[in-house]
Amino acid sequence: MADKERFPLCESCAERQGDQAEFSPARGEDCFICRGLTSRFPDIERSVVRRAKGYQFRTFSIGVIVPRGIQEREDQLRSDLKIRGRETIKTQLSRGISDMLRRQMKRKVDRQHPDITILVDLQRDALVVTAKSLFVYGRYTKPPGVSQRRELCERCKGRGCQECQSGYKKGVSVEEILEDRLGRILHSTKARFTWLGSEDPESTVFPPGRPFIAEVKDPRRREVPPRLAARTGRGMIRVTGLKVLRGKPTAIPSFTFRTRAFIQPESRIEGFPAGLAKAMKGAPIQFRNNKGKTVHKKVYSVKIGRRGAGLVADIKLDGGLPVKRLISGGSVSLSLAELLKTPLSCQRFDILRVWESGSFKFGKI
Ligand SMILES: [Zn+2]
Ligand SMILES: [Zn+2]
Repeated sequence: MADKERFPLCESCAERQGDQAEFSPARGEDCFICRGLTSRFPDIERSVVRRAKGYQFRTFSIGVIVPRGIQEREDQLRSDLKIRGRETIKTQLSRGISDMLRRQMKRKVDRQHPDITILVDLQRDALVVTAKSLFVYGRYTKPPGVSQRRELCERCKGRGCQECQSGYKKGVSVEEILEDRLGRILHSTKARFTWLGSEDPESTVFPPGRPFIAEVKDPRRREVPPRLAARTGRGMIRVTGLKVLRGKPTAIPSFTFRTRAFIQPESRIEGFPAGLAKAMKGAPIQFRNNKGKTVHKKVYSVKIGRRGAGLVADIKLDGGLPVKRLISGGSVSLSLAELLKTPLSCQRFDILRVWESGSFKFGKI
């Protein structure tokens, strides 16, 4: 028994060692193990709950880092006295916090995929709360003059200069506007987008719009409204069908779309060859993608007519087929220019409709 008296311990540290409470009692800094740390635990627990209340979450996990020396002294004491002890100082604190979050906020522990991760770093005296990314699905429509993605500033290539401040080209993009709007709704500052295809800045995207997925990082809220709208100065961007996906998608659906292309022929076209629409419909279209790989896709229907000196074509086709090159040719075959045997240029194309084929796949939750 005299052995134990060599270690003055505070009440909390003695209790952790088991029921042989025969250590010489100490207070605050005199405790051999914690040097007064455990007396701060109730305060720490309360401040964690205060911080957690700033987040919308159902599940959490807790990590604790204790100042250097504490765990070592507890290990040394246990090995000297040949006792196993009940728990470590780390588990004592994380249990205290868990109990409080469970009781006061009715939240549950999930060590695999928690909504929020709480790190209590007593070495650096920091409390870090991180929320699991939220994957949000929606469809956007846009007016001409708004680009889909934010583009890097040409002058500084994204490093940020006097002109751009941000590293990005001035002008409106769906990406920028949605990041801002979703950021306000979900209390986040960063989102990453995956688009089901793209169009030109000059294209109009009509309802029901083009699907996208946004990974919203470190969100304090986890619910979205079904729709939103934002003014751009050029017209509205609208999002519908907004919803939270159940996790990170591991596969996204392929898609087909209908476009309306406005075409300028180099010379006047007297008559359309018979069977033009038929020739293209269902024909395998071969083209080189940005990575230099040859890809095969399909066109499902073509309707072509005159419009002033130009042509207008409604085409239903596979996602990923470049509309402008499908018309003008060059690295895309069959093209409309090939069929009409005259050079064509596509001046603008709008997105009339996008269909998803297939569904999202998710990893294990
Ligand atoms: Zn102690
Ligand atoms: Zn710049």
